[in-house]
Amino acid sequence: MARNIEAVCRMCRREGEKLFLKGARCFTPKCAFEKRGFPPGMHGKSTSARPDRVSDYGKQLRAKQKARREYGVFERQFRRYYSEAQRMRGLTGMNLLQKLETRLDNVVYRLGFASSRAQARQLVNHGHFTVNGNRADIPSYNIHPDDVVTVTESSKETVYFKNLKEEAEGRTVPTWLARDVNNISGRVLRLPERSEIDGNLNEQLIVEYYSR
Ligand code: SF4
Repeated sequence: MARNIEAVCRMCRREGEKLFLKGARCFTPKCAFEKRGFPPGMHGKSTSARPDRVSDYGKQLRAKQKARREYGVFERQFRRYYSEAQRMRGLTGMNLLQKLETRLDNVVYRLGFASSRAQARQLVNHGHFTVNGNRADIPSYNIHPDDVVTVTESSKETVYFKNLKEEAEGRTVPTWLARDVNNISGRVLRLPERSEIDGNLNEQLIVEYYSR
């Protein structure tokens, strides 16, 4: 399976905002974006001083890269999501965001069972979750309304999940999901609305990028 080995904090610095890719560390003064909030590389500081010089293409590219990085998806898969979103009814941009939000790893993260999408992805990969009672170890697995995501009985006994309950309770769950923290389980009530998805993402620019 392909793995992204790019330095994670560089992605936040490149996108010019915190993407919260490293869980708890993102909320501490150790956050690289807090310490060096300008793009990486030799010309990083001077580039950040001239944001008005970014072309339309540059803005579209950055919007696409930001979404791709936030959800931890590679280009080929992201483009596939876009093609599928285009073929669906409704607005392509919104369809694309819903496809990203309903990935199994994202749902595990949104339920508060992981501190970052990367951690959620690893937990899924290691077979800790079931969907409607069937083991699901593919992070990109597409979740639908009424699906139930639960941790496996054997995994409930692991130190991580034993300690998780308190931590998970401190994490807010979006209203399109219902969480049962005691059973480390969650149900998808419906698809997320635009207001429930990261407002910093610009789906219109992403659509423009792929429509060039
Ligand atoms: Fe981004 Fe988190 Fe790294 Fe800060 S610590 S730069 S928010 S990934």
